Amino acid sequence: MVKVKDMFYAQAASADICKVGECGGAVTALLTYALQSKTVDAVVAMTKGADLYDGVPTVFTDPKEVIKSAGSLHCAPVAIGKFVAQYLNGARDMKIALPVKPCDARAILVMAKRGKVKKENLLMIGVNCGGTVFPMAGREMIEKYYGVSPDDVAKEEIAHGKFIIVTKNHEHKEYSIDEIEAKGGGRRKNCQRCDVKIPTMADLACGNWGVVGPLEGKATFVEVCSEKGAKLLDAAANAKAVTLSPPDPKGVEARAKTNDVMIRMGLRNQKKQFAEAANPEFWGTQFKKCIKCQGCTLNCPATFDMKLQPSAYEGKGDIPPSLNYHMARMGMVAGDCCNCGMCEDGCPAEIPLSLIYHEAAKRIGQEIK
Ligand code: FAD
Ligand code: SF4
Repeated sequence: MVKVKDMFYAQAASADICKVGECGGAVTALLTYALQSKTVDAVVAMTKGADLYDGVPTVFTDPKEVIKSAGSLHCAPVAIGKFVAQYLNGARDMKIALPVKPCDARAILVMAKRGKVKKENLLMIGVNCGGTVFPMAGREMIEKYYGVSPDDVAKEEIAHGKFIIVTKNHEHKEYSIDEIEAKGGGRRKNCQRCDVKIPTMADLACGNWGVVGPLEGKATFVEVCSEKGAKLLDAAANAKAVTLSPPDPKGVEARAKTNDVMIRMGLRNQKKQFAEAANPEFWGTQFKKCIKCQGCTLNCPATFDMKLQPSAYEGKGDIPPSLNYHMARMGMVAGDCCNCGMCEDGCPAEIPLSLIYHEAAKRIGQEIK
């Protein structure tokens, strides 16, 4: 019987899913099983759109189709939970299983608190996250550092601190993420600051860290985080949808150490980035770039559905708007920033908004985790 806090190496029993899954296909097998067994009415997962840099949240109601969502897209920073809130009535009328990065899971907790999703109807299959790259930045990085056209890349992955690409001609190229980031590229700035890497607030937390020995690269390390997660994993194993084996104790230790290193790196980057923006001139200059398009508000999982019409004190007809406008945005997010970076991704003026929201949430000290 699977219990909360149990840990396993898991693999999809289906050879087809194993082949296309990122590391053994356990997540895809679990999502497929959840639909097949009618534990949920739908699965929402990511599929490739036009190319590798285009992640599309996709709704599946046929279990046979879920395999199309296998694999990790590192250049697809999409708020998958917000998609459920915005387009699927916040899972109020159906049960939904979905893969979630830590910031996706945290955004769901924020949205549940604010009444935008029915969390009881969600089955969250967490995936650990070392960070995502903004799609355009990913394309530019591949051209600049790898000397390869981004359209010639067949697969990308992040492993052992490297961003690795495999071209359509089966050529492997890798570059240290640290080096790329030291030169200003690499993961999104919010991901560089992220200090939640294993989504233990989801029902299961799945990742490649900690898989050592013969199964390295071929299985997923699964930590059971809730009764709901335990029930799903137990039923999927009994139905022979996934195979489970005990993790190597050295792997368990390695996973905890890697997590620690990544968190410390995130905290160091927070200190550095918060200090860089501490100059009183910094925000004045940044906010002068605002064109008042509301992209930040619409993209943010905490505020996307709030009343957009600015209040009288925020000023009307002025571009850039007065600082009151930004104070109001700050008040709307309050301490609920989960550092997903969506506000910044949605800002055409490239104002580093998540930096100020994240810093404020840290100061309030009640981050949802
Ligand atoms: P699969 O069966 O291949 O299923 C993967 C699932 O992830 C699919 O449902 C897919 O739709 C979903 N998915 C793909 N891209 C995204 C995305 N951008 N956002 C949300 N969901 C997505 N594991 C670690 O241990 N350490 C890491 O540093 C790490 N970084 C990651 C970074 C990203 C951006 C992602 C998406 C995953 C990362 N993982 C990391 C998890 C790892 O890559 C595998 O997803 C995990 O081990 C499960 O493997 P699997 O074969 O069972 O997954
Ligand atoms: Fe991953 Fe954290 Fe970045 Fe979210 S903020 S994409 S969880 S690294």
